[in-house]
Amino acid sequence: VERLLARPELPAAQALAARGLPARTIDGFLRPLLAALLCDPDLTTSSRCADLALRAFAGGRLALPEGGAESLPEQLARNLPPGTVHTGVRVTSVATNSVTTAEHGVIRCRAVLVATDARAAAELLPGLRVPDFHPVTVLHHTTDEPPATGASLLLDADRGGPVAHTAVVSHVDPSRAPAGRALVSSTVLGPCPSDVDTAVRIHLSRLYGTPTGRWETLAVRHTPEAVPAMRPPHDLRRQVRLLAGLYVCGDHRDTSTPQGALHSGLRAAAAILTDLGAGRSMHTAERVATASAA
Ligand SMILES: Cc1cc2nc3c(=O)[nH]c(=O)nc-3n(C[C@H](O)[C@H](O)[C@H](O)COP(=O)(O)OP(=O)(O)OC[C@H]3O[C@@H](n4cnc5c(N)ncnc54)[C@H](O)[C@@H]3O)c2cc1C
Repeated sequence: VERLLARPELPAAQALAARGLPARTIDGFLRPLLAALLCDPDLTTSSRCADLALRAFAGGRLALPEGGAESLPEQLARNLPPGTVHTGVRVTSVATNSVTTAEHGVIRCRAVLVATDARAAAELLPGLRVPDFHPVTVLHHTTDEPPATGASLLLDADRGGPVAHTAVVSHVDPSRAPAGRALVSSTVLGPCPSDVDTAVRIHLSRLYGTPTGRWETLAVRHTPEAVPAMRPPHDLRRQVRLLAGLYVCGDHRDTSTPQGALHSGLRAAAAILTDLGAGRSMHTAERVATASAA
């Protein structure tokens, strides 16, 4: 990682071209793979972030959380004492010692960590920078006859249509598909074209080599501000401690990925524990105090 981060920082497309790799390797594999990993079709992302994404890809495998993206926060919440987490509550303002909510009035506290998306964080904490974003559109289709590509992720290196990448997701995680049917999930990067479903079906029939006219469209989800842009120079360790009692974390403080969001959360938690005078985890500190009192 240190060696990657010591390299000159350029837009990823420029850095790839400067590395002397064959055009076939860049256009046929690296460019579409990086576009998929970074949600950035033009590869304007910092080459350091692109190198880190390639390193993670080479060292591990692509994965989907079983049961959907929400299963990750659900697993984290399951390990907390009952009643710790309240969902469906909208925060309207924060201070170092209180949070004002739309539904439950003011909640007093010893520290506040704002863990929202970048735009909501800047609304709650005026002065915080709002980055540009990469839009993402995801389309879900079901069919009785899945294409024969197994669990592979198909990348479109030819740019022959709007789809950047697609997979028969039910081969990876059957729990996501309606019973007895295959689920094909496809991603369009950049602005959403008009009549996106028709354009995507035509493109998918070429990519999978099978007719898609009878596939059923389950959902088309367009998120204009899906992924914070990481143009160079990108600060990989943006400050998470704003002042004693007020902290911020999320993908916009680190890299624009779930890993970046988790890592910034870890940094913020460490800062809070230090400020509250709990060197280790809060639970350990409490147990030691009880033992010495006894
Ligand atoms: C369609 C789409 C596709 C993506 N694809 C990829 C990908 O392929 N690879 C990849 O690495 N990343 C991808 N990402 C990005 C990844 O999902 C994010 O980087 C990650 O979820 C960021 O986590 P976070 O905790 O920082 O923020 P979020 O997951 O955005 O969580 C913020 C939470 O704050 C809550 N909130 C906001 N305002 C308030 C308020 N006022 N009061 C209370 N709660 C509030 C929101 O409801 C939300 O639950 C994608 C994102 C989208 C939307």
